[in-house]
Amino acid sequence: MALRSKSKYPLVGLQQPDEFMDRLRRGFSLRSVLSGKWTPDGLRVRGIGSLHGFASHCKAFPSWGAEATRLVEINLITANRRKGARKRNLTHCKRGHELSGTNLGIKASGQRWCKACNHGLQKIGSVMKPEQIARVHKAIENGLTVGQITQTRGARRLIVTFKALKRYRIENPSFDRFLIENARVRLSRSQLMLFRIVPSNAEHFRLDLAQEDVPPFEMQAGDFEWILSLLKQKRVPFEARYDVAQDIIVSLLSRAISRENLANRIMDFTSEHYRRNPGLGYGTVKQPDSLDAPIYDDADVSRGDRAHRGLWD
Ligand SMILES: [Zn+2]
Repeated sequence: MALRSKSKYPLVGLQQPDEFMDRLRRGFSLRSVLSGKWTPDGLRVRGIGSLHGFASHCKAFPSWGAEATRLVEINLITANRRKGARKRNLTHCKRGHELSGTNLGIKASGQRWCKACNHGLQKIGSVMKPEQIARVHKAIENGLTVGQITQTRGARRLIVTFKALKRYRIENPSFDRFLIENARVRLSRSQLMLFRIVPSNAEHFRLDLAQEDVPPFEMQAGDFEWILSLLKQKRVPFEARYDVAQDIIVSLLSRAISRENLANRIMDFTSEHYRRNPGLGYGTVKQPDSLDAPIYDDADVSRGDRAHRGLWD
């Protein structure tokens, strides 16, 4: 029977109505009959017909249409139940861990996840992509902090997770040095060093170790005065300035640090100086000053005396 229509679009009907009905009887959803995807047995087949053709065929053959519509409704329910079955029935994660017992996590959404994989990833962090590395470089040069790079705040998305950045710093000591040297805020630089993410035996933060990327240093007239002025500017105590200045010149000559980076590293030289000479500084939590030490060289009064008098007299 030829299909006719008075509407603008001619009725097209279905080329294979029997195959269409057969699929519906086998539990295919309407979508899967048309596309051949998401079939009940999971096997991809060639799709047949079109939605428009199906509608017009139902119109032209009402009894066929009634049966087909009934099956479409039933099959839709079973098809929806089938959704996600493949993942739901996985017994192992993609790395081979068993998805059961204490290793199986279930999210509020019902999604299942592998705890072994998650813990592993959290521990080591993922590998940074080249474009992430480039963006992090740019961000550091523009004065962004590690917090701003690794956290989403307001409209700005994070560039990389803290764990991934940590892994990259451990694996690339020269990058870690770049990060510490270019930290704009002194506090954040000291925190970077304090919460040292890199292994304690890493040698990249030595002030006396030649670096490949640092050009040879040529001493010029006025350099010593320039260094002293930097020390004064950074409020390094007068009595320490000449010692620190000498350390700086040694570092410059041995190519441990470049002329351009010096201003950013003054505090590192100063803290290194006080670390080597604990009696001179104000002490640290790890290395408190002795209360028996004189308050200044050649003084009769000890720190203990002064603290005591200051508190009780
Ligand atoms: Zn796993």
